[in-house]
Amino acid sequence: MEPTQQQTTGTRLDPWVDAYAARTRGLTASQVRALFAVASRPEVVSLAGGMPFVSALPLDQIADMTARLLRERGPQALQYGSGQGDVTLREQILEVMDPVGVRAHPDDIVVTAGSQMALDLVVRVFCDPGDVVLVEAPTYVTALGVFSSYQCQVVHVPMDEQGMRPDALREAIARVRAEGRTPKLVYTIPSFHNPGGVTQGPERRAEVLDAARSNGLLLLEDDPYGLLGFDGSVPRAIRADEAEGVIYLGTFSKTIAAGLRVGWAVAPHGVREKLVLANETATLCPSNFAQLTISEYLATQPWFDQVKVFREVYRERRDALLESLDALMPPGTTWTVPAGGFYSWVTLPDGLDATAMLPRAVAALVAYVPGTGFYAGGAGGHNALRLSYCYPEPDRIREGVRRLAGVIESELEIVQTFGSPTTASSRPGPSTPTPDLA
Ligand code: PMP
Repeated sequence: MEPTQQQTTGTRLDPWVDAYAARTRGLTASQVRALFAVASRPEVVSLAGGMPFVSALPLDQIADMTARLLRERGPQALQYGSGQGDVTLREQILEVMDPVGVRAHPDDIVVTAGSQMALDLVVRVFCDPGDVVLVEAPTYVTALGVFSSYQCQVVHVPMDEQGMRPDALREAIARVRAEGRTPKLVYTIPSFHNPGGVTQGPERRAEVLDAARSNGLLLLEDDPYGLLGFDGSVPRAIRADEAEGVIYLGTFSKTIAAGLRVGWAVAPHGVREKLVLANETATLCPSNFAQLTISEYLATQPWFDQVKVFREVYRERRDALLESLDALMPPGTTWTVPAGGFYSWVTLPDGLDATAMLPRAVAALVAYVPGTGFYAGGAGGHNALRLSYCYPEPDRIREGVRRLAGVIESELEIVQTFGSPTTASSRPGPSTPTPDLA
């Protein structure tokens, strides 16, 4: 097979382009991804990446603890483990979920390589090609990647300042059914939303659950940020009030260490069986070393005090972001005020396009993620962007916002003089997630 010029991806010829499975069609690199290579240069203030600030961890203690673990339990830590995950860790996970109100049995838990893997397993177990997943508008970009790789159709449900709108969810489910399509899952991030920065209150959670349950749909509750509320309060998980109709996803990535890749799913009994089998096919078992490290950390370190340290770090950065947005953003720009988590969602003044603006922002040494990345097929969010405040120091955040405000002001001048800079070609297609989009 001779590859033709059309059969190229980027600048590199790919002789296998005709051999890929149909499910890889959504896995294309976006122009945005290329820009992020530039945005990772140190002179650029990146408000793009969602990387946890792991330098706030007690690294020396973790080093000693890990060395001791290997000395004392090396043969176990370095061996294969069970497909469901280490039983001691599963018991500890119950304690970790206590603040969000989830009560379960260790048997209900499946440990996975991050909650990303749990998300993948759930979709693998439930979705046939063409099945519909209902998600927030916007939603977590790498969840979109999972839905795309299992050839699901994604239907976005509008949000307001309390997250997913239950009336819109009911309408969307009815519409999907009327079109002869099969809705399978409702995927929601109720606490400190990525990328929206909003949180569902208790009533909203009950309404969203009711909309899913009364339509016979499983709710997939993704809760990576639940413990990171800045006022110390922890939103009660939807799973806390409904065990049969909800799969709950948790992770140690934001409260301990993303690099260890340990997350989990809490699922109804039958679903849990399937998830364990799917976990075994995907990875045999989650890393024993990573699980035992987390388990040892939970047992020997003041893990909840460290959560409080993280809350403080992120609260200070959130404040730096909001204060500078208040002080510097041109009129017509609006943003969400996150009560926890890592992100604020910014809506630009009329006529501005966040994707078209990104190269100019990067030239001005500031980066963000354009809103289109959080919509299936890049079909929404053109005038919006996500800012992450989790990683840069507060002064860098202030500097980043100052640069961004300057870019938005000059975009506004261009729009006022020449009309909108938006071009269809400036919009990305579905993107392959990168760590910058975490
Ligand atoms: N869900 C959401 C909403 C996230 O923001 C992330 C990480 N950015 C994940 C899931 C995956 O996290 P991990 O695999 O590290 O647990």
